[in-house]
Amino acid sequence: MKSLQELEMKFKIEELSYVDVSAGELWINVLHESLKLGLAPKSWTDYLHLTVGGTLSNAGISGQAFKHGPQINNVYQLEVVTGKGEVITCSEEQNADLFHGVLGGLGQFGIITKARIALETAPKQVKWIRVLYSDFATFSNDQENLISSQNTFDYIEGFVIINSTGLLNNWRSTFNPKDPLLASNFSSEGRVLFCLEVAKYFNPEDTYSTDQDIDILLSKLHYIRSTLFLSEVSYVEFLDRVHVSEMKLQEKGLWDVPHPWLNLLIPKSRILEFAQEVFGKILTDTSNGPILIYPVNKSKWRKGTSMVTPDEDVFYLIAFLSSAMPFSTGKDGLEHIMNQNKRVLSFCEKTRIGMKQYLPNHKTQEEWKHHFGSQWEAFARRKSTYDPLAILAPGQRIFKRTAACEQQ
Ligand SMILES: Cc1cc2nc3c(=O)[nH]c(=O)nc-3n(C[C@H](O)[C@H](O)[C@H](O)COP(=O)(O)OP(=O)(O)OC[C@H]3O[C@@H](n4cnc5c(N)ncnc54)[C@H](O)[C@@H]3O)c2cc1C
Repeated sequence: MKSLQELEMKFKIEELSYVDVSAGELWINVLHESLKLGLAPKSWTDYLHLTVGGTLSNAGISGQAFKHGPQINNVYQLEVVTGKGEVITCSEEQNADLFHGVLGGLGQFGIITKARIALETAPKQVKWIRVLYSDFATFSNDQENLISSQNTFDYIEGFVIINSTGLLNNWRSTFNPKDPLLASNFSSEGRVLFCLEVAKYFNPEDTYSTDQDIDILLSKLHYIRSTLFLSEVSYVEFLDRVHVSEMKLQEKGLWDVPHPWLNLLIPKSRILEFAQEVFGKILTDTSNGPILIYPVNKSKWRKGTSMVTPDEDVFYLIAFLSSAMPFSTGKDGLEHIMNQNKRVLSFCEKTRIGMKQYLPNHKTQEEWKHHFGSQWEAFARRKSTYDPLAILAPGQRIFKRTAACEQQ
């Protein structure tokens, strides 16, 4: 969504630096303004042209979440207008119940009007790396080791590639193969592949030591050796990378199409089972859009927010980011993709895999109760405390406008 705000940000630079921003501000603008002072927020989404209030109402998860937690962890204070019309400043110390409720609260308890975002010293450059695996267990073990190590990358994600030809050639505009000859002989055809995507931040004066650190980290991984691809970009280019794809798709009229996205959180103990059933069986290609997959660590998650996660400490975010071709009745059409999503969901349900949806699109209160599980009571209590008439965000279909209090 486009921000309608005038840029107005107040920075505080001290041991714990932060910026006070309007919640309608876009993260890309927060980034540009912060960089003028050599600072930047710590945790991101993959796409930055989203509002601060919008992502804080969900979680804000990307490849930095294993280290800093999601964006809802990296906010010190909020100003909220509740459903009762009260303007309340809240934080861990002040009105903590509202603060926790609003973070990941899907706009149910109040409209966030201002946010105080934690900042860190910004790096100038990024070494951006992709390597491939053909065995899921090896891939996920490496990912899990990386997210739990002290000395590791600054960003860790991954994605699945099913039945994609000419894949490595497509990367060549951005990435350089470490060994061009071996890479050119690599054939991806017909195989399910898993791409580990990592990044290390650095400043130009530290290039040598950064390269050494990266060599050590890569030497501990078990990827297919001929598939090491490297790129070096500015910090802004790296963070705003999806915008480049957006502009290309906009040009072709392929950005404003239906996006039947499915985002799942799967506990670590069941991820192998999930991968075996879904990648290659339910999904036989990845031509409708990327499938991201990476683990995060709940010990880095702020406790008590409205965000719902699986029970285990480590869980995977799996994002099926499909685009549907309008009017198509084929494999790239909305119906086909929605059916695939249903099959994935029904597999999760049948096997009681302990999955939670992220950015869910439930249609009934029963489904929402199931989604929130043991957190439902607190969620409903907060609704009756802060928005008793249920006037806020009715589009989520969690509470009905007239009888919010009776629905607990
Ligand atoms: C292209 C794209 C890429 C994305 N990538 C990621 C990603 O990498 N990681 C991730 O975690 N998420 C991602 N998302 C999801 C994103 O976090 C949510 O869609 C978020 O709501 C987007 O913010 P928005 O400004 O567009 O919100 P809107 O679409 O305007 O609002 C969405 C919801 O948030 C609530 N809301 C919005 N603003 C406020 C506010 N100020 N106060 C209270 N409630 C509010 C609204 O009630 C509404 O229910 C992506 C979304 C898109 C479109």
